[in-house]
Amino acid sequence: MIINEFIDSKLLEKYLSQEKRDYLGASGLGDECARRIQYQYMHKEPKIKATTIRTFDIGHCLEDLVAQWLIDAGFGLRTRDENDQQFGFSTANGKISGHVDGIIFSFPKELDCAAKMKSQGPVLWENKTMNHRSWGETAKHGVFATKFQYYVQVQLYMAYLDLNTCLFTALNKDTSELYFEIIKFDAETAQKYSDRAVDILKAIENNELLPRVAMDPNFFICKMCGFYDVCWNNN
Ligand code: SF4
Repeated sequence: MIINEFIDSKLLEKYLSQEKRDYLGASGLGDECARRIQYQYMHKEPKIKATTIRTFDIGHCLEDLVAQWLIDAGFGLRTRDENDQQFGFSTANGKISGHVDGIIFSFPKELDCAAKMKSQGPVLWENKTMNHRSWGETAKHGVFATKFQYYVQVQLYMAYLDLNTCLFTALNKDTSELYFEIIKFDAETAQKYSDRAVDILKAIENNELLPRVAMDPNFFICKMCGFYDVCWNNN
């Protein structure tokens, strides 16, 4: 067996043996396909490539790095609470939860926006890493227009943690550029997707399968979905 195959097999083995989430995560609730969210909650096994797992792992490592850059620059950012746990929330008897990247309690006074940000109270911090093309789109058009799932994610975090502002950062993995965007709380979106979570839980309790995102198995989102076989071929 060549080294790549061996490493990949071990990576997949470890990934598949991990404890599965038994809650709907806020990070997934903006997914365009409700059925996919349902499958995740029901622990249906998605097909996943080792390279995708490596991308997730790289994202986690780079998040720590970006956090340190902000802290070193004087941001009062905390990524863990006093019990060394991630900040987060849990509701609906633990069936809807979220864990946030961090909370910013103060901004460097040299920044023009420092006083304004201070008046907002604690600010949610959410970080993503992106390839050059994806980062360029987000930097040009913003999170709402290009990464709606992330927009929903931070809205739910703000709603449940009672925050009204988010500082979103995106690191370009190819050029190391950073993009910053301030996202304000949008109560309507937060409510809509909180309701969606409740509807998904109800459907699962009633053994109902939620609608697919498309009628055609060749739809591009389905072709890239790890649940394709279970969804369209029932296996
Ligand atoms: S294959 Fe398509 S419809 Fe089925 S879960 Fe995935 S995205 Fe949704």
